Amino acid sequence: MEFRHFIGNTWSAPDNGATLDVIDPSTGEPFAAIGRGNAADIDAAVVAARGAMGEALDGPWATRSPAERADLLFAYAAAVLEHGDELAQLEARDTGKALKTARTDAAVLARYLRYYAGCVDKLHGETLPYTTGFTVLTIREPIGVTGHIIPWNYPMQIYGRSVGASLAAGNACVVKPAEDASLSILRLAEIAAEVGFPAGAINVVTGLGSEAGAALSANPGIGHISFTGSTVTGALVARTAADRHCPTVLELGGKSPQLLFDDADLDEALPVILNAIVQNAGQTCSAGSRLLIQRNIYEQVIERLAERFAALRSGPPAMDLDMGPLVNAKQHARVRGLVQLAESEGIPVAGRGKIVVEASRSGFFQEAVLFRDVPPQSRLAQEEIFGPVLAAIPFDDEADAVKIANGTPYGLVAGVWTRDGSRGLRLARKLQAGQVFINNYGAGGGVELPFGGVKASGHGREKGFEALYGFTALKTIAIKHG
Ligand code: NAD
Repeated sequence: MEFRHFIGNTWSAPDNGATLDVIDPSTGEPFAAIGRGNAADIDAAVVAARGAMGEALDGPWATRSPAERADLLFAYAAAVLEHGDELAQLEARDTGKALKTARTDAAVLARYLRYYAGCVDKLHGETLPYTTGFTVLTIREPIGVTGHIIPWNYPMQIYGRSVGASLAAGNACVVKPAEDASLSILRLAEIAAEVGFPAGAINVVTGLGSEAGAALSANPGIGHISFTGSTVTGALVARTAADRHCPTVLELGGKSPQLLFDDADLDEALPVILNAIVQNAGQTCSAGSRLLIQRNIYEQVIERLAERFAALRSGPPAMDLDMGPLVNAKQHARVRGLVQLAESEGIPVAGRGKIVVEASRSGFFQEAVLFRDVPPQSRLAQEEIFGPVLAAIPFDDEADAVKIANGTPYGLVAGVWTRDGSRGLRLARKLQAGQVFINNYGAGGGVELPFGGVKASGHGREKGFEALYGFTALKTIAIKHG
C-alpha cells in the first residue's frame, strides 16, 4: 500500500517522489508507505485551498451558503459513521490503539462534524451601541486557508475538532497529519470529496514534521495554524508563524492532576481514575497522570488501585484488551526510560499490569505502572510521560493539594473528587487548568466543552462554540448615517 497526498480532491504524488515507511506498532514492521511531503507539496495544497476560497471569496467553497456548508458537514458526519469500522481498522493498525478505542474515535469524529454542522448558521456578528448617528455591526468572516498540524494519538478526533470547526467557519484547510498516523486522515479527505466538498476545501500533505510541518508553519498563504503536540514543537511552530503574524492555537499536553479527598465516593472515582491514565495507553494529552490522595485514605486507595493495575493487559489492537502498544520505537524507549529512571531513584512500584504473551516478543508494548510516594519535584511527577504510568502522591489538606497540583509547568485539565460541594468549587477556582472536572474526569472530554490549556499546556481554545471564534476574523463596520 502506497499512499499519496490528497490535494484538490486528487491523489498527488510527492513533489520529490520520496516516501516514508508506515510501521505497525504491534510488530515494528513496515506495512505501507506515505508521501514524504516538502515545501512544494505544501505550496500546491495552499494553492488548491486558495482556489476553493477564490481571490475575492468567490471560489466554489467560499460561495456556499451557510446552510449548504452545514448540509455538507452533516453528510460528512453520516459518511464517517458509515465508514466507521474501516476508519477504525486503519487507525488501529497505524497507531496501535485498541480497536474499541479507534471505533469510539470514529464516532466522536462524527459527533464533532455534526456539532459544527449545527453551528454554521448560528455563527453571527452583533450590532453595537455607539455614538449617536452611527450604526455599528460586526461580521465574522472566514480567515481564508487554515493549517492543521495533527499528532498521532487521536488523529480522527483532533481532525474533527479542528478541521470541522474551521470548515464550519467557512475556511479551506491544509492538514499535515503526524508521520506515524496519516492513514485515517487521508481516507477522511477522500470521503470528504465523495460527499461533495469542492476541490481544495480539504487537502492533506503527509510527511515529517521538520519538513512538511515546518513548511506549513512558514507558508505565507496560511492564515491560522492549529497545532496539537509537544510543548517544544508547539513553541517552534508559534515562533515561525509569528514571523508573518499568523495566529496559532496550541494544544500542548499536560501533567493533569486528580485530587482525591477522604469524603469522595471511591467506588465511583477509582474506575474513572484508572481509565484516565489507561485510555489509549496513556497517550492522551489530558491523561490524568498524577493522582493526589488525601493521606488518611492513601493506603486504602493505593491497595485498591494496585489490584486494578495488576489486572491490566496490553496486547495488539485486534485482541481489544485494555491497551495496545505505544505508537513508535521512540515513544517506547522514552516511556521505558522514564519508568526505569523512577525505579532506579527508588520510587516504589505499587502495581504493574502485563503484556500478553502473544505480544511480548515484538512491537512497542508497555505495561501499565502505578508508582506510589512520588516526590512532587521528581521527573515522574513533572514530565509528560505519554504512557500508562500513574504517579500517586499523598497530600494533607486543601492548600497542600492545590500547591502540588499547580506545581508543574502544565495546566490542561484537573479533577476534584469530594462530596463537599463548596470545596469542589473552591478548588476549581484555584486550580490552574483549562478544564476542571468535579466528581468526574473526561480526558479531553466533551465535543461541546471548550478545551485548551494555560501555562505550558498552550493557548487558545478548541471544541465547543468557542473554537469557531478562533477560526474567524472579526470585522467591525461603522456606518455614519446622521
Ligand atoms: P511533536 O510535537 O513533534 O509532533 C506533533 C505534530 O507536529 C506531528 O504532526 C509532527 O509531524 C509535527 N511536527 C514535528 N516537528 C515539527 C516542526 N518542526 N514544525 C511543524 N510541525 C512539526 O510530537 P512527537 O515528537 O510525536 O511526540 C513527543 C511528545 O509530544 C510526546 O511524548 C508527548 O509528550 C507530546 N505529544 C503531545 C500530544 C498532545 O495531544 N498534546 C500529542 C502527541 C505528542
